[in-house]
Amino acid sequence: MLKVANLSKTYKTGDKALSDVSFEVPSGEVVGLIGPSGAGKSTLIRCVNRLVEPTAGKVFLGDLDITSLPRKELRRARRRIGMIFQEYALVERLTVMENVLSGRLGYVPFWRSFTRRFNQSDLDKAFKLLDRVGLSDQAEKRADALSGGQRQRVGIARALEQDPELLLVDEPTASLDPKTSRQIMRLIGEICAERDLPAIINIHDVILAQNFTRRIIGLRAGQVVFDGPPDALDDKV
Ligand code: ADP
Ligand code: ADP
Repeated sequence: MLKVANLSKTYKTGDKALSDVSFEVPSGEVVGLIGPSGAGKSTLIRCVNRLVEPTAGKVFLGDLDITSLPRKELRRARRRIGMIFQEYALVERLTVMENVLSGRLGYVPFWRSFTRRFNQSDLDKAFKLLDRVGLSDQAEKRADALSGGQRQRVGIARALEQDPELLLVDEPTASLDPKTSRQIMRLIGEICAERDLPAIINIHDVILAQNFTRRIIGLRAGQVVFDGPPDALDDKV
């Protein structure tokens, strides 16, 4: 479970990006985070993994207080959080399999053919994930040979490789066509249900959020202005 309590962020520039934001995301729940540009969505996601340091408030992942962790323990904590990005953030020259395995390391090694560094059970696990996202026949292809939708599937498999306790998803469909966007949203929802995984999806497209999440949090000027089921969404957001 993720718990965000009274989170605030004021940047050095004086921009008040978040003011007293609180919510919980239980296991298995997928939250669509919506709001106009500048509402604080990216800041919120970045405060959860402490790419941005909050000014006040707390973030808990289960019992772990992420906000109070010393810097040197952050890396281990971040391994419990799977990230999925708008532009996929794959290493183009590596194979699909290598990209997925890099999720296990948490970094991309510079040595060649690094799949040899992994044992059979690691490889089996990565294959299973590729199979789950529908790419088992693409494992040896280079990432730069894939379509956008396929790349995002690799991004999902890579995020799952570390067995995360939380998924943070930043505009996963912003670079995809409408049909592929729906497929990706459906896949993320199914996987979170299967794994009882909580997720926050920063999503610009309100219709997608309404169709593929059961709960929406609306931000405006750094404050939560809506938190509820999609069908209750009104024009405040
Ligand atoms: P969103 O993701 O909803 O578009 P952001 O979190 O990017 O919103 O931005 C929220 C507010 O914080 C905006 O006013 C933005 O200009 C400001 N902001 C975001 N990042 C920074 C930063 N690194 N330094 C200063 N201000 C920032
Ligand atoms: P997006 O809408 O794709 O999130 P943004 O324009 O919000 O892109 O932010 C792009 C980058 O610029 C981010 O790293 C963000 O933190 C930073 N940023 C946004 N607003 C400001 C600002 N007012 N001052 C400094 N950096 C900012």
